[in-house]
Amino acid sequence: ATGGGKKKEVKKETGLGLSYKKDENFGEWYSEVVVNGEMIEYYDISGCYIIRPWAMSIWETMQKFFDAEIKKMKIQNCYFPLFVSPTVLQKEKDHIEGFAPEVAWVTKSGESDLEVPIAIRPTSETVMYPYYSKWIRGHRDLPLKLNQWCNVVRWEFSNPTPFIRSREFLWQEGHTAFATKSEADDEILELYRRIYEEFLAVPVIKGKKSELEKFAGGLYTTTVEAFIPNTGRGIQGATSHCLGQNFSKMFEIIFENEKGEKAMAWQNSWAYTTRTIGVMVMVHGDDKGLVLPPRVASVQVIVVPVPYKDADTQGIFDACTATVETLCEAGICANMDSRDNYSPGWKYSHWEMKGVPLRIEIGPKDLAKNQVRAVRRDNGAKVDLPRSSLVERIKELLDEIQESLFVAAKQRRDACIQIVKTWDEFVEALGQRKMILAPWCDEEEVEKDVKARTKGEMGAAKTLCSPLEQPEIPEGTLCFASGKPAKRWSYWGRSY
Ligand code: AMP
Repeated sequence: ATGGGKKKEVKKETGLGLSYKKDENFGEWYSEVVVNGEMIEYYDISGCYIIRPWAMSIWETMQKFFDAEIKKMKIQNCYFPLFVSPTVLQKEKDHIEGFAPEVAWVTKSGESDLEVPIAIRPTSETVMYPYYSKWIRGHRDLPLKLNQWCNVVRWEFSNPTPFIRSREFLWQEGHTAFATKSEADDEILELYRRIYEEFLAVPVIKGKKSELEKFAGGLYTTTVEAFIPNTGRGIQGATSHCLGQNFSKMFEIIFENEKGEKAMAWQNSWAYTTRTIGVMVMVHGDDKGLVLPPRVASVQVIVVPVPYKDADTQGIFDACTATVETLCEAGICANMDSRDNYSPGWKYSHWEMKGVPLRIEIGPKDLAKNQVRAVRRDNGAKVDLPRSSLVERIKELLDEIQESLFVAAKQRRDACIQIVKTWDEFVEALGQRKMILAPWCDEEEVEKDVKARTKGEMGAAKTLCSPLEQPEIPEGTLCFASGKPAKRWSYWGRSY
């Protein structure tokens, strides 16, 4: 026990190392990783977090990609106010019912009570649509396709978790209106898949949410679902909603169509949030800290000089500087840790904690051989690279890391997927924290019943999504929960 205490003290001094292991104490491990990896600082209001530059740069990388893609789709950016008046907020009944418990209200200015309290947007359908009603008059005003990058507030009560479930979060929200029936935007869903799979190296499943889990007030919701093997929980990665004409009815988004008749607009909305970053941390992080996929790492390569006794220290530092310059010129984000108050070993641990994909070490031997030593963060593999072909080799290595992070994550996720046909198999798989694929009758009451029957310490099971790519359902297949004829395959499990 005394040994353990001592170890902790050393850690405190250096600020390095994690006291929790990912496989043993996932929740504590996660909080420690996001703080020690300098992504998050806890704030004195529960559920609110400071997003530090190390995480903000990841958000910006995704934002740059997504913003450029939606502009190609002729979607324009705008900005609407943070506040909503109660009458407008409450206009769509199902919508407000879904959000009411999480809405934060401003009730005072200074010492005086506001005559009418003002709500803070939990999402902006009700903020924006009164103005859609004003702007959309004829069919030539359609489609209207707007997006905003902003923050929203949802006063969540269940377990706040940095990035994953916070009370204020950053997101983009797209809101589109069309003259004719529109399905949920699958071009957008595909962009969400690409954010997860191509940038964050996190495998996701495209699917449709159940009636019980869909967006409040919408017609139906499509989603990209991720899964966290360590906790056996699914997580809604991002969503694209088909709102149908529900909101245009309530907000009177009425236009004259080509035949000169009055018609109601069809609408979609879609969003992804800073949750994406948390999912990435949970999926790739390890007992040394964060593991960042190269495509989102603001430092892809950290160069560490390794001076030795009276060897040519200046030569080593010059080689490091030149290496950083060469890499940066080639478009690789490289940095040198030239601090002289830390040892190379300390620096290794520091940058491992921060998840930098590649470390380059240059010591006397490397200098003599005109090479560098590259060490991969994801698997610890070491290779010596000649400085003459450095740029190509580093680019290859970064691509390999990106790819193998995704492949490894997908293998771990796929190993958790279990097909079940009966209630007993379902209960067993749930106990093993699986992502369960089961034939389902697709009835709301049955999902409620499954929730009630699985209620417990760990939380009830629910549908995660019905995959858009449906396996075949053989004739006569029955629902695992109700025994009625199965209509579709659906993923089930516990979730965040
Ligand atoms: P919604 O508008 O409710 O569909 O939410 C859009 C997306 O926001 C969801 O698909 C989640 O990925 C994400 N999300 C929902 N609640 C939170 C939260 N409290 N913190 C961070 N992200 C969230």
